[in-house]
Amino acid sequence: MKPIQDIFPLLSQPRQVVITTHQKPDADAMGSSLALKHFLVQLGHSVTVISPTNWAGWVNWMPGVKEVMDYEMDKPKAEAVLDKAEWLFCLDFNIFHRTKTMTEKLKQLSCTKILVDHHQEPDEASFDYGISDTAKSSTCEMIYDLIVTSGNAGKINEEIGECIYAGVIGDTGSFRFSSTSAGVHTLVADLKSKGLRHGGVHDKLFDNFLENRLRFIGHVLLHRMEVFYEYNTVLIAIPKADLLKYQIKTGDTEGLVNFPQTIQGIKLVALVIDRDEERKWSFRSKGEFDCNTFARNYFEGGGHFNAAGGRSSDSLDKTVEHFKQAIKENSTLLQ
Ligand code: 5GP
Ligand code: MN
Repeated sequence: MKPIQDIFPLLSQPRQVVITTHQKPDADAMGSSLALKHFLVQLGHSVTVISPTNWAGWVNWMPGVKEVMDYEMDKPKAEAVLDKAEWLFCLDFNIFHRTKTMTEKLKQLSCTKILVDHHQEPDEASFDYGISDTAKSSTCEMIYDLIVTSGNAGKINEEIGECIYAGVIGDTGSFRFSSTSAGVHTLVADLKSKGLRHGGVHDKLFDNFLENRLRFIGHVLLHRMEVFYEYNTVLIAIPKADLLKYQIKTGDTEGLVNFPQTIQGIKLVALVIDRDEERKWSFRSKGEFDCNTFARNYFEGGGHFNAAGGRSSDSLDKTVEHFKQAIKENSTLLQ
């Protein structure tokens, strides 16, 4: 993988560009994809954002989201666009299997593939150009850097600012996590000076749900949460029946994994949701417990040191048993 700076001289020549990201794109994934699109369009490129799957309602306000294609919803049309692409940008993921059913198609494409990502252990061999930096708060911060370091700071407008800010607050827990560097605050100061209305972005991301979602959270915290004080660990396991009863949609479970972190002394929080195709795990830790390694070792996953995800094909009961065994094996690290 050649350094991302090597594409800067090529940016002035208009191309057919596709931007893609991980399945079920969150604020950082969708925000970085759309910010990059708005930037490249200003340079004269022809740009399509393709998401591997559908996405949460709380990113539907983002400027440009209406034109984003859903690969699962319209595979032939999305594949026709992919076949014509000269450049493929891959944002906020670093290994093709994070795009689910789009994986094989992406592997087959012979166009130039460019990575911009901040997760651990990138599959660098799959990309021609790119940047992978785990010290970055978010892929949105990296897109901001790309625009500025390529000499195009003047192209950052209100719509790019909103998209970038959304990803930054999404991935830093609104400036809480250790990835919130001085550079992140400088970036926000710059966006503010360019007219960003930050309060509106918070509202659209975090205060934009229906009543059922709050009642679901109440139910889950009361009935589906288990605290293992001997391992400083909390587990939430959500059966499919709960999702159906409360009419839970994509994105409604975002943020749920953070609630148990408010309990004194908790080092690891694990959330597992019984989805149709798999049991999907989310892990969050505080301090020295490495979620990325834990997710890789036990649940076919990965991510960051303090936030990672994984999956299992087992039943909910079986994967929960596997988790209980895993925290026993990690008990020293969890003290
Ligand atoms: P979340 O729990 O919010 O879904 O994910 C936490 C972090 O781990 C995010 O940065 C996400 O991109 C990453 N992640 C989630 N699931 C997986 C997975 O199955 N594999 C890998 N490598 N990363 C994941
Ligand atoms: Mn991210």
